[in-house]
Amino acid sequence: MGAPDPSRLSLNTATVRKQWKLAQILDGCARHGIRGVAPWRDQVQEFGLDQTARLAKTHGLTVTGLCRGGFFTGKNWLEDNRRAIAEAHVLGAQCLVLVVGGLLFESKNLVRAREVVRESLQEILPEARQAGVPLAIEPLHPMQAAERACINTLEQALDLCDALDPGGSRGAPALGVAVDAYHVWWDPKLEAQIQRAGSRILAYHICDWLVPTRDLLNDRGMMGDGVIDLPRIRCWVEAAGYAGFHEVEIFSELDWWRKNPDDVLATCKQRHRECS
Ligand code: ZN
Repeated sequence: MGAPDPSRLSLNTATVRKQWKLAQILDGCARHGIRGVAPWRDQVQEFGLDQTARLAKTHGLTVTGLCRGGFFTGKNWLEDNRRAIAEAHVLGAQCLVLVVGGLLFESKNLVRAREVVRESLQEILPEARQAGVPLAIEPLHPMQAAERACINTLEQALDLCDALDPGGSRGAPALGVAVDAYHVWWDPKLEAQIQRAGSRILAYHICDWLVPTRDLLNDRGMMGDGVIDLPRIRCWVEAAGYAGFHEVEIFSELDWWRKNPDDVLATCKQRHRECS
């Protein structure tokens, strides 16, 4: 396994969102020589869409994804996803990341929730295609099936891609996947499904799984501090043909959100090089 290409590092802005505003994060990426960035929509809204696009361009940053659209099982999903697609278009984002949503309100019907996700994707996909914004379904760890995403494996996500965007398997997909090592590392079918995904891999997210994990949402670890075999997963992803960015995405209430953000970025660079 060779070392990762340092120029492939991207920063998901959630990683230092507690310490810095978006403009400071973009400046920080430039200062640390990080070439990619994936902002969250609330931060973009606060700073301004055009301002964000302009500052990213000034710094020569690639927008590796916009976080996030989806939540198809909630209220107002259609308007919200239309706005998200338009924003991703203005930012020139390589994809719009979709966290698809969990159970419907006061429902235990997971089967129905998954149908709703499929129907909603089918409805929104032509608009995304028209805007030139690829949609990336992000399967989330099953611990988040109820509240955040009822698509929990790469296989489920790819079945949806093949059904709704059959031409996309031959390259330039309108519908693909975001492979987040944190969410899928445990999957016994991971290697086979990454291979299957091929050009549908629109984004690759990294961090680490801490033992023990103290919070289901906001206790992600820095690469190298947990138990995910990140170099192995990266090799699978690269073998599938993915040559894009490696996006560090760490939600860490107890640790990294409390540190000096310049130190966090320096550590991201070092651990990307040594542990990813
Ligand atoms: Zn992710």
